[in-house]
Amino acid sequence: MNTLHPGQDGYAEEVAGFQTSVPSSPAVVVAAESAEDVVAAVRYAAEHGLTVAVQATGHGLTAGTDGVLISTRRLTGVEIDPAARTARVEAGVRWEAVVEAAGKHGLAPLSGSSPDVGVVGYTLSGGFGVLARRYGRAADQVTALDVVTADGELRRVEPGSDLFWALRGGRDGFGVVTAIEFGLVPVAELYGGSLTFDGADVPSVLRAWRTWSAAAPDTLTTSIALIRYPDLPALPEPLRGRHVAQVRIAYLGDDGDDLVAPLRAVAPALADTLRVLPFTESGSIAAEPRQPHGYHGTNATVSQLNDAMLDAVLEHAGPGAATPPVLIVDRLGGALARTPETPGVGWDRSAEFVVRALSMVGDDGVAAVRRVHAKLFDALAPWTTGRLLPFVYGEHAPEEVAESVYPAADLRRLRELRRRYDAGTVFRAG
Ligand SMILES: Cc1cc2nc3c(=O)[nH]c(=O)nc-3n(C[C@H](O)[C@H](O)[C@H](O)COP(=O)(O)OP(=O)(O)OC[C@H]3O[C@@H](n4cnc5c(N)ncnc54)[C@H](O)[C@@H]3O)c2cc1C
Repeated sequence: MNTLHPGQDGYAEEVAGFQTSVPSSPAVVVAAESAEDVVAAVRYAAEHGLTVAVQATGHGLTAGTDGVLISTRRLTGVEIDPAARTARVEAGVRWEAVVEAAGKHGLAPLSGSSPDVGVVGYTLSGGFGVLARRYGRAADQVTALDVVTADGELRRVEPGSDLFWALRGGRDGFGVVTAIEFGLVPVAELYGGSLTFDGADVPSVLRAWRTWSAAAPDTLTTSIALIRYPDLPALPEPLRGRHVAQVRIAYLGDDGDDLVAPLRAVAPALADTLRVLPFTESGSIAAEPRQPHGYHGTNATVSQLNDAMLDAVLEHAGPGAATPPVLIVDRLGGALARTPETPGVGWDRSAEFVVRALSMVGDDGVAAVRRVHAKLFDALAPWTTGRLLPFVYGEHAPEEVAESVYPAADLRRLRELRRRYDAGTVFRAG
């Protein structure tokens, strides 16, 4: 077992992740190279009264740790079974590797907007992907998990077991997943990309997107992002220094241009990247930053998006706002509204949209960001139905997250199961 202690060469590199605003100083880092290393690390932690945290990429860090950090980044095995349309991947695998491997067989996973995100953390969080309205959550495609529980046992978890339910959406507090198996979908290419509109057109584009996406078939997954780009030479000219509305589209159909014609007619686009693309390039749709940085974010699922809500979005995240977050509204519905065969933990299937806010953490610290986000989400509160775990970024109070993310009955069952599987609280519950 390869262990690293504070001050040792390689310790800081192993602790560092994509999220840089959540400091962490584990007593020991275990750079796991096998499931047996994970077993040894969990047993060591239990014997020494230390808590266990786990990290693949650091995209979803919500708290630092002073216990044992199990780093899974070396567990990179990917196996595709094209005939069965399934994948088995180890805990350190990023989506990019699965998308590439599955793509060779004309298949795709239910991956998200960024190819750099870790498969396991994403899927245990629920997993809201590029094809979400067509195929539902990634968590609901899972067929089996290998997980090391608090007693230091490596278990295979399959449908029918409590842990199978709890891990898929309940994520934290049950164990360290060493490998995950899930279904793939027969998608080789899609019509996708984005339409970017200038600040003056933001209000009309928001309203037009709301109407247009309401009539959308389930084969369309779409969001709208409001983004203020800094005035930096590294950015392309049409975006630099502007506050834009960007409609993002992933569509499985051969009439994409007809489908988006009403949107293209709303206003002249600053940029139009819509085209037929291989699924392996689906990360280009949102084109998210790939450099580590500090960020904080939260979200709310909402039952509707009425004019008062759009006014609040514009006031707090539109071109006139003083310190606007990146604001993303995703249309839910489609397969997300249907109950899958073996449902995992909580998700408000009746919600129509999720509204997400994300801000860089600057010199003013996270408190300033929280204040900005609170104004927006307070205004949306009358229509808020819940919160999606994957889009909770940075440091948050775990209890508050749990109470807003899970329906009450699911939360009760999760707490009961955590007590049963981890009485000594080896694992951090969020
Ligand atoms: C740029 C960006 C784009 C994103 N896009 C999407 C998206 O399109 N859709 C979506 O649903 N989410 C998205 N997310 C959110 C992402 O799914 C979550 O942040 C997820 O938790 C990241 O997992 P990770 O392994 O990459 O990160 P890590 O920070 O390494 O892990 C996050 C958490 O996952 C848990 N975890 C990780 N590995 C294991 C394991 N082996 N066993 C048990 N628990 C584990 C732990 O609680 C850990 O703290 C995005 C995040 C970012 C930063």
